[in-house]
Amino acid sequence: MIKVKNLHKQFGDLKVLNGINEHIEAGEVVVVIGPSGSGKSTFLRCLNLLEDVTEGEIYVDDEMINAPSVNVNLIRQKMGMVFQHFNLFPHLSIMDNITLAPVLLKKMTKEEAVKKGQELLTTVGLLDKADAYPAQLSGGQKQRVAIARALAMNPEIMLFDEPTSALDPEMVGEVLDVMKDLAKSGMTMVIVTHEMGFAREVASRVLFMDQGQILESGTPDEVFNHPKNERTQSFLSKVL
Ligand code: ADP
Ligand code: MG
Repeated sequence: MIKVKNLHKQFGDLKVLNGINEHIEAGEVVVVIGPSGSGKSTFLRCLNLLEDVTEGEIYVDDEMINAPSVNVNLIRQKMGMVFQHFNLFPHLSIMDNITLAPVLLKKMTKEEAVKKGQELLTTVGLLDKADAYPAQLSGGQKQRVAIARALAMNPEIMLFDEPTSALDPEMVGEVLDVMKDLAKSGMTMVIVTHEMGFAREVASRVLFMDQGQILESGTPDEVFNHPKNERTQSFLSKVL
């Protein structure tokens, strides 16, 4: 579903991604781990075309998405993204947060979008908050809404960048539970997280990134219990 070939990204003289090659199949749940500053967020942002690619090719469904002729908005509609800070629109109700994009981009009528919004809010356990505003919700609830909002566009792929890092500890579980359900439903997911227990349980594959490269890729058992690379071993010894 996603093919990345020799991806490089530089910010000025700073080389942040140094030749990433990766294939992600439909239905895979890929968890990306690695030290701070290793390029994990930049990798996700390149997949979603939130960053210009310096060199290399990214294919989604066999279409090269970092070509000049590509309709960036259509590509982004295939991918939902959830960030550390939920980025909900503070002046819109929860339902309006969820229905805004599908209606604005003419994917659905308002009526269809509200119906879909009700289904999604039910899935994340927040139907009773449809008319509330973001400021009235806890961090965990806001992040569950952010996931529902991303799903409202019917994406093929969901990208998560440290979705629980800004949450109080008691709220991490409720967000991870929503992500687990989504994984079980067969969604293709790429997740940057420091939640190693979640990675062990849910990932079909774990990628270890360091200094802009993927140094190790394998099942949770392979990467966590039998890491081959010295830098993976050293990273895991600090976080496990
Ligand atoms: P991670 O998510 O693994 O912590 P990032 O992808 O955020 O790493 O960052 C990798 C490196 O790229 C860091 O050195 C960071 O400072 C740098 N970087 C990220 N975004 C920008 C930017 N927009 N401009 C300049 N440098 C950036
Ligand atoms: Mg990051």
